Amino acid sequence: MIDSNNFSSSNGKLLKVEHLVKKYKLGEVEVHALRGLSIEVERGEFVAIMGASGSGKSTFMNIIGCLDKPTSGLYLLSGIDVGKLSKDELAEIRNRKVGFVFQGFNLLSRTSAIENVELPLLYSSVTSKIRREKALESLNKVGLGDRIHHYPNQLSGGQQQRVAVARALVNNPAIILADEPTGNLDSRTSVEVMNIFQRLNNENITIILVTHEPDIARFAKRHILFRDGKIKSDKVNKEIREASEVLKTIPLIDDEEEE
Ligand code: ADP
Ligand code: MG
Repeated sequence: MIDSNNFSSSNGKLLKVEHLVKKYKLGEVEVHALRGLSIEVERGEFVAIMGASGSGKSTFMNIIGCLDKPTSGLYLLSGIDVGKLSKDELAEIRNRKVGFVFQGFNLLSRTSAIENVELPLLYSSVTSKIRREKALESLNKVGLGDRIHHYPNQLSGGQQQRVAVARALVNNPAIILADEPTGNLDSRTSVEVMNIFQRLNNENITIILVTHEPDIARFAKRHILFRDGKIKSDKVNKEIREASEVLKTIPLIDDEEEE
């Protein structure tokens, strides 16, 4: 595989934010969503971001995912000063470097699994044949190589989220951002998705995950707690759980609807 994620030019830091501030203006009211956040993330980390609702987690994810710009502060993504980019450049770096997974899966409903996964590649110059190959490779990585022609409504919630993970992976991104990816899933399925994230992380893919569930955060290597748009704590997780081990202890419930 081509390694497009060589970050020697950025001192090994995949992501660096300094004094990040985000204010939203709602009419006359100003909402201070991020109040001067500084974080560094290296390649290969698996970070869980936690914190109460409204503490700025999604705002942070949108900024580091290049979907939104900060009001002030510095953001370097593999050494690139994202704040200085034009809208087009921002879209390009987002497409090349970031894979998103959302709580609601965000798949196109009238589009098969493999076509959903191919979507991010439509903006690049690859041929349709290579697009198909990459999408298939990506679906195989999440264990859905036998479901490629299924439509989202023919897949369980967990399978839909795995399609979304495959879509996030297909560009070989530098970083996967997952905002409450298990929020709509039952507990076994949540652990299955975490199992996939752990496997990807073992292949040195960087993952930043937002969750409000401590049980889910325990699969990550580092815990960052947000409070009121600031970092309350930032700790190494010394007791990482292995999702593959946990899965052995959770009984399989009906998978019939998968067929
Ligand atoms: P979290 O994901 O931790 O629940 P958010 O980042 O969504 O928190 O929100 C942080 C704060 O910013 C909240 O007070 C929220 O109401 C506000 N906020 C988020 N998005 C917007 C927006 N687009 N416009 C105005 N206020 C927003
Ligand atoms: Mg949120």
